[in-house]
Amino acid sequence: MSTFLSPAFLQQCFAMHRLDLAVRQLKGSGIIVACRQCKIRHTVRLGRWSEEGGGALGDAAPLFVEPLLRCATAHLPAIGVHSVDVVRDVLDLSCAQCRETYSFRLIECVTRSV
Ligand SMILES: [Zn+2]
Ligand SMILES: [Zn+2]
Repeated sequence: MSTFLSPAFLQQCFAMHRLDLAVRQLKGSGIIVACRQCKIRHTVRLGRWSEEGGGALGDAAPLFVEPLLRCATAHLPAIGVHSVDVVRDVLDLSCAQCRETYSFRLIECVTRSV
């Protein structure tokens, strides 16, 4: 079993076979994404994305907004990784059922083989 600390692996999976990426869990600090193709698991630490770029406003606020948490409870398989941008450190999640997209700051990604 190997562990890699880099968002590059997540981006590679996303670029090569994004349909094989499945969001498994929303945690307090991020998400767990499994790749069915590579049989690996990406544990992604996320931060709230603010368009202002400051990120200073209300750090105590929860990472995931209420509608997204409802999606995770009601139809987790509909939630997918919409885009990964390792240059800007942005990760977008989207819900196929609600047709909503949510942006997050990509803080850290740990990839493990399973
Ligand atoms: Zn993969
Ligand atoms: Zn939804």
